[in-house]
Amino acid sequence: MGGLLSGLGRFGLDSLEGMDLYGKPKQEEKEKKVEEKKAAPVVQEQDLLFDKTYRCPVCDKEFKSRTVKAGKARLIGSDSDLRPKYEHVDMLKYDVIMCPCCGYSALSRYFKFITSPQAKLIKEKISANFKSRDEVPKEIYTYDEALERYKLTLVNAIVKMAKSSEKAYICIKTAWLLRGKGENLDKDEKGYAEKKKKIDEEEREFLKNALDGFLAARQSESFPMCGMDESTVDYLIAVTAAKFEQYDVAMKLISGVIVSTSANTRMKDRARAFKEQIMKQIKMKNAAGSEG
Ligand SMILES: [Zn+2]
Repeated sequence: MGGLLSGLGRFGLDSLEGMDLYGKPKQEEKEKKVEEKKAAPVVQEQDLLFDKTYRCPVCDKEFKSRTVKAGKARLIGSDSDLRPKYEHVDMLKYDVIMCPCCGYSALSRYFKFITSPQAKLIKEKISANFKSRDEVPKEIYTYDEALERYKLTLVNAIVKMAKSSEKAYICIKTAWLLRGKGENLDKDEKGYAEKKKKIDEEEREFLKNALDGFLAARQSESFPMCGMDESTVDYLIAVTAAKFEQYDVAMKLISGVIVSTSANTRMKDRARAFKEQIMKQIKMKNAAGSEG
């Protein structure tokens, strides 16, 4: 799975870069170039943020983290796979809470909830090697800074043996963040095509891991999952599966959403529209196959 966790060297955790997401031990290439920083001068983004104080449930220290002010950011739409888009700010950048003292890091939804055996694992495998960086208070996070925080969150989840759904949720959000990064690249910049291609490939790698994790979670966990009801999770899996041409999985799940008695009208409408789209894709693929 290549570079899922690449870049952790910045936190002193380069030895954890090869950790396997869903269990099988595997040693992967460690060397990955740390992406160069790029300022993301988004107008007014900082106006929507404030420093919120948290207490770390692992090391018990207090710290501040940039947080989006409640109710301030306006949702302007979402991608077919439910990636939310807000005006003036990419909220996803601020969804990770990271303790700068011990390296414990989680999505905001999970931050408080950690058992003592899990905290022990974090202390042993993360905090022991974690290099606290001199955190200069930041007005906003760049995409690369946000991506580092997500990677640290993913390795925290692996170390604390989080459920598949939590790891899959981190993966899908990382994929969405990468999509945002790609959309915000300067098209006139030298090397744009190459950079975009690399980001797209990385996004696909995270999407694939999210798909595997959600499929596993669907078999073994109960709903709601990551705050999503069953129809929402099934829809998300279906859309993602279709991206990898797993049309049988996609069709089965999307048909389930359409006939579900608990799904709301908006979700059913989305599901119907998506089903039509998959059927077109399958037709095109079959046509191409029979010609060749
Ligand atoms: Zn801490």
